[in-house]
Amino acid sequence: MHKILLVEDSLILTKILTRKLNASEKFEVVHADSFSSAQEILEKGEHQFFLALLDLVLPDAKEGEIVDLVTACGVPAIIFSSIYSDDLREYMESKEGVIDYVVKTNHNVNFVTDLIDRIHKNRLFPILIVDDSRVSLAMTRRMLALYQFPVLQASDGAEAMRILAGNTNIRMVITDYRMPELDGLELLNWIRNDYGRSRNQLAVLGVSAHRSNALTARFIKSGGNDFLSKPFMREEFICRVMQNVDALSHLETIRELAQKDYLTGLYNRRYLFDAGGKLYNNARRKNFSLVVAVMDIDFFKSVNDKYGHYAGDLVLKSIARILKQSFRDTDVVARMGGEEFCILAANVKGEDIQTTFERFRKKVEALEVGFGDKVIKITLSIGVATKLDEDLEAMVHQADRLLYKAKESGRNRVVID
Ligand code: GH3
Ligand code: MG
Ligand code: MG
Repeated sequence: MHKILLVEDSLILTKILTRKLNASEKFEVVHADSFSSAQEILEKGEHQFFLALLDLVLPDAKEGEIVDLVTACGVPAIIFSSIYSDDLREYMESKEGVIDYVVKTNHNVNFVTDLIDRIHKNRLFPILIVDDSRVSLAMTRRMLALYQFPVLQASDGAEAMRILAGNTNIRMVITDYRMPELDGLELLNWIRNDYGRSRNQLAVLGVSAHRSNALTARFIKSGGNDFLSKPFMREEFICRVMQNVDALSHLETIRELAQKDYLTGLYNRRYLFDAGGKLYNNARRKNFSLVVAVMDIDFFKSVNDKYGHYAGDLVLKSIARILKQSFRDTDVVARMGGEEFCILAANVKGEDIQTTFERFRKKVEALEVGFGDKVIKITLSIGVATKLDEDLEAMVHQADRLLYKAKESGRNRVVID
């Protein structure tokens, strides 16, 4: 739970914001209705605040004094005010530690809660900034840190390459163009070609004090996601960054929806054959072993008949959880459909195959799924194909035949060829 300090004297607004933020189950609102009560909370130091939402005009501090009080404690602030003027807005945004300045209207309540949500997500979006100017680096870092992005930095292209190679979780690179050794464009080319990350996986934003439309076009054509000219306004910079973060997250959501099964979160049949085909080709080329297992829950229909469909779904989810725990991240674990699952595992030693699947079978046999005051027990049958056949489909087919044998010979067992 991340704590948000809300300093607001309007009861209605406090109610609306608290309800909305607490409902997300990610945030916990700590409320103060005046400058002095906020001061008291901060002085006690009982809470670690993720950020603060501040009303500029409070009964005991009408001139925005609350902003300095809170930001001095190192808590980033969003200002939420009913008064608006361009000067005030500019003044507030020039202040260090102020994320944004929002005018109060009904519509903007959603804007604020969305903004908080995004900032919360930014914590999982590491950005690498690359610039040979220390001043620029420090400035960019400060802007991004305010929005809670984890920031890594490099002072030239070569160092950036090293950092990227060691930190494959980096999602965005913001790079200066003119740098000694390796310039921004060369770094971009390395990222797209040698590092092998596409525009849809790792966003690259170019930045340059050298205003040139031709350079912008060249950068974008080489696979860059965006290009900004220095000097830029903080607001413009953050908007561009956020826009690119949004685009990447949307793509990720689409990818997830296309690849995963909604109920269990396991990969779906389509992904199984997509990723599995590559795994198969790799195994063939490099002479790795490949194991294909197909498993099916025994008498699952009777679980539905006895306890209902909802209980059946719970069982499927529990099995999915055990599957995820039992196999390696590099294995492909998929729900083939219904109550049938498939596992592709590369490079398993011959003597380990039996024990791996036996152990898994026993885990499922021991599983107790609680449903109200009842306990549901199930078993499953497994067919395992271990010989590299002519293609993946043939191996799945073979595993299916072995599964049928397991069912025929009494269920709750593993049959390996
Ligand atoms: P066997 O041991 O021969 O595999 O018997 P079985 O009852 O498991 O096999 P059968 O193919 O007759 O029944 C499968 C059942 O799985 C029927 C179907 O309603 C149920 N099922 C398939 N998908 C889902 C699902 O997403 N949720 C639930 N709750 N049930 C599902
Ligand atoms: Mg079944
Ligand atoms: Mg079945």
